[in-house]
Amino acid sequence: MEVSLDFQRDTMRRTLLASCGALLYSFVILICYSLGYIIIDSQQLIILMVTFWSGHIATIIFVRLRHRKRIHAPSMTLPHMVWAILFVSIILYHTVDIRPALMMAYLTILPFGAFRLQWRGFFGVTLFTLSCYALALFLLQQTRPGHWFPEIEAIIGLTFLVAMFGYCAVGHEFNVMRERLSDSDERLKLALAKIEELVITDELTGLYNRRHLLNMLEQQQAIANREGSPFVLAFIDLDKFKLINEQYGHGIGDEVLRSFSELLQDSVREVDLVSRYGGEEFVLLLNGVGIETASVVVERIRQAVELLSFSQPDLKMTISVGITEYHAPESITEILERADKLLYEAKREGRNRVVQETVNARLEALE
Ligand code: GH3
Ligand code: MG
Ligand code: MG
Repeated sequence: MEVSLDFQRDTMRRTLLASCGALLYSFVILICYSLGYIIIDSQQLIILMVTFWSGHIATIIFVRLRHRKRIHAPSMTLPHMVWAILFVSIILYHTVDIRPALMMAYLTILPFGAFRLQWRGFFGVTLFTLSCYALALFLLQQTRPGHWFPEIEAIIGLTFLVAMFGYCAVGHEFNVMRERLSDSDERLKLALAKIEELVITDELTGLYNRRHLLNMLEQQQAIANREGSPFVLAFIDLDKFKLINEQYGHGIGDEVLRSFSELLQDSVREVDLVSRYGGEEFVLLLNGVGIETASVVVERIRQAVELLSFSQPDLKMTISVGITEYHAPESITEILERADKLLYEAKREGRNRVVQETVNARLEALE
C-alpha cells in the first residue's frame, strides 16, 4: 500500500526531532560524567554511547528506507522509545546525586508515545519505564548501597505517574482534535467534489455544461494536434422549440429537454462527451472517429428523436444537426463556428436533418 507524502514527512520530522533530543542528552551525560556525577569506566561509557547511537541511527536509516520504497512497515515509535528508555535507565544506574535531573530524559521520550500510541500502549511504556527505573535502583543498591532513599524515590515515582497521566490526557485531547480535523477534512473534500461537479454540470439535464465542453475541447485539440487522433463535433438544435413551449408550457418544454438529453447520453460511448451548450442547443464530441462513422451515429439519434414520446401523447419533436471533423491545427472557435454554420444550413434546408461538411468544403478549408 502507498504511504502519503505528508505521513512520511511527519514521521521523518519526528525521528529527526528525537535525534536532536538524543544528541543534547548525550552532551549532558558527557558533562555530568566529566563532573563526576556519572560513575562509570570511560570505555564502558563509550561502548554504551556507541551502542545507543547505533540503534538510533539504524532506526533513522530504516525510516528513510521505508520512505524511499514507499511501503507500509510497522511503526518504529515503540521500539525506538524502548531503546531510549533502556539507555537512560542504564545511565541512571551509574548516576549519583543528580538522578532526578537526568531522569527528566524519560519525560522527553514519553511524549512521542503520548501522541502516537493508544492508551494501553502508552501505559505499557510508562510501566516499562518505571520498572526499568526500579531495576536500576535495585542494582544500584547492590553495587553502591545508600545512594537512594525509598521515601524520596516513591515521591519521584508518584510525581512521574502524575506527569504521565497529564501526558495521556493531553495526548488524548490531541487525538480527538486530530480526528475531528480529519473528519472535517473529509467533509470538505466531499463538498469540494460536489462543487466541482456542479460547476461543470447543467442543472436541468444533468449533462456537462458549455464551460466543461470548452475545457474538454481544448484538451482534445491538444491531443489531436500532437497525435493526429480525429474527433468530430455535432451541433444539435431542437426544431421549433419555442412553439413547444408556447403550445404545451415551459414545464413540458423542460421535460422534452430532459428526455432528449437522456436519449443523447444513451446513444454515445463513454469516451464521447454530451453537453448542453445553452437553451435548446447541444454539442456532441465524438472521440476517435471520422466524419463518416460520426454521421451514422448522429443520423441514428435524429431518427430516434422522431420516435420519442412524452407525457403529452400528441407531442412530437425533431432536431437539426451540423457535424464536422476537427482539422488540425485549427482553433476551437473555428470548428465550433463551422458546426454552427452547418446547423444553420440544416435549418434552412427544412429542419429535421443532419448536414455534414462536404468533401469540397473540406478541401476548400484546407487550401
Ligand atoms: P428553430 O427551429 O429555428 O431552432 O426554432 P426554435 O423555436 O427552436 O428557436 P429559438 O432559438 O428561437 O427558440 C429557442 C427556445 O428555447 C426559446 C426559449 O424559450 C427556449 N428555451 C431555452 N432554454 C429553455 C429551458 O431551459 N427550458 C425551456 N422550457 N425552454 C427553453
Ligand atoms: Mg436555438
Ligand atoms: Mg431551436
